[in-house]
Amino acid sequence: MPTSHAQAQPPAKPELIDSFGRTVRDLRISVTDRCNFRCTYCMPEEGMTWLPRTEVLSYEEIRRVAKVCVDRFGVDGIRLTGGEPTVRAHLPVLIARLAELTVPADADSPRAGQPIDLALTTNGATLALIADDLRHAGLARINVSLDTLQRERFRSITRRDDLDRVLEASMPHLLRASRPSR
Ligand code: SF4
Repeated sequence: MPTSHAQAQPPAKPELIDSFGRTVRDLRISVTDRCNFRCTYCMPEEGMTWLPRTEVLSYEEIRRVAKVCVDRFGVDGIRLTGGEPTVRAHLPVLIARLAELTVPADADSPRAGQPIDLALTTNGATLALIADDLRHAGLARINVSLDTLQRERFRSITRRDDLDRVLEASMPHLLRASRPSR
């Protein structure tokens, strides 16, 4: 029987490769299909049929999928989206569970051995209600999608008169969160 003195190498971790041959390291997870806006380019003003709650992944299921992607497929960043993610109940609970995930120490990633890069995209309308809770749960980054600073155009696009709410309620939280804590 042939023998070899070569050390057995652990099998390489499978990577996710997109159709352009790029390695995928960021995972986007939609936590809900619901939204408090009705942007003209996204959904009709009325008559949306939402997914039944039984067909939406639970927070525990989302964490399990995310952990497999981080541990086995080279994902080092996760962004939560929707719909509008902040309308899903108890979002800080999910943030806390995902913030625990760590990129494996042997991963081919600048974040190897560190927590994943956890981010959230929001329209900002209800962010102020849970911004502090999200931060305390471990959310590192927030992007606010804002199509315009012109009130009438904002109302025309989103079908909501919420520009003031986005700017006056959410922005102070974002600015406070962006300052380094002392
Ligand atoms: S805020 Fe986003 S998810 Fe909501 S309607 Fe507008 S584009 Fe769609």
